[in-house]
Amino acid sequence: MDCRYSRPESLAEAVAVLCEAQEATEGEAHLVAGGVALGILMNEKLLAPRWFVDVSRLAELKGIEASEDGGLRIGAGCRHREVERSPLVAERYAILAEMAAEIACGRIKNRGTIGGNICLADPQGDPPVAVIALRATLRALGPKGTRDIPATDFFKGLYETALGPDEILQEIRLPPPQANEGAAFGKFSARRAMDYSSTISVAVRLTRDPASEQILEIGLGLGGSGETPIWAKETEKAFIGRRPGDECFALMRETLFAEIEPLADDLYSQDYKRHVAAVIMKRTVEKAWQRSGGTA
Ligand SMILES: Cc1cc2nc3c(=O)[nH]c(=O)nc-3n(C[C@H](O)[C@H](O)[C@H](O)COP(=O)(O)OP(=O)(O)OC[C@H]3O[C@@H](n4cnc5c(N)ncnc54)[C@H](O)[C@@H]3O)c2cc1C
Repeated sequence: MDCRYSRPESLAEAVAVLCEAQEATEGEAHLVAGGVALGILMNEKLLAPRWFVDVSRLAELKGIEASEDGGLRIGAGCRHREVERSPLVAERYAILAEMAAEIACGRIKNRGTIGGNICLADPQGDPPVAVIALRATLRALGPKGTRDIPATDFFKGLYETALGPDEILQEIRLPPPQANEGAAFGKFSARRAMDYSSTISVAVRLTRDPASEQILEIGLGLGGSGETPIWAKETEKAFIGRRPGDECFALMRETLFAEIEPLADDLYSQDYKRHVAAVIMKRTVEKAWQRSGGTA
């Protein structure tokens, strides 16, 4: 079967080519960012793209910059390694560097992109979990213009996102950090870093009320705990107005067990994954709490 390859020179051209490619192939066109996931899916015959639109060199998808409101803008085409090593990320959102450090190995980090990872929407992926907890906005460009999608609404099903087939994720926009804020990323994997098929990850961002020493706000993202990266919104409620401690964690465990439906696999049962998710969440909340200035 014929397969075409295009390398547009600008983001606007990429959108136009993607529209043409989707129409010509009845939806069998794919963007190429790092090509890491595409290569594997094609090798395993799960995907047979008929038109590749290569966006890997587009300057408009690159760069990590402070935004005017004090937040951060990360180009979708930034490689995991750039996120891990960025001084701006380290200064404002160290949780993202902590998350990127946990991805696979140097070879994957040097090729895979944060945007490609988010658009793949693998339930095991680490960046989706972090952007959910941080309440990021995902900015997409399509033929009808720019669209901002809250990360909490982005993951719709197994490998399914809110993006249209003709839309390109342009950047990840992070809100400015708050006073008395702490964030942390935790991950469990019994296997080697290169095999991430059976991992559980948790991202936490919280703010502490210094007067009451309670959690004022919290964002929780979970990976490996269902068909999609999960926004644990019910479990978030279990933390609001409480101080991390035995009572709060018991309530979290009960709520989390009801909220997530991990998929059993060759290694772990659903119950075991629920248990691990609760343990990693407890540890990660404790770490975020301490980073917010809270005492144990
Ligand atoms: C051995 C191995 C271990 C790994 N371990 C981990 C891990 O521990 N944690 C983790 O999080 N990930 C892990 N990954 C995934 C990896 O980090 C990549 O992020 C992921 O494969 C996708 O990134 P990519 O840039 O290569 O995307 P690509 O393969 O280029 O694209 C993936 C999909 O996203 C679409 N896409 C890409 N860019 C855009 C865009 N800007 N807008 C819209 N759609 C777009 C493409 O059309 C395609 O459908 C691992 C991968 C491998 C092979």
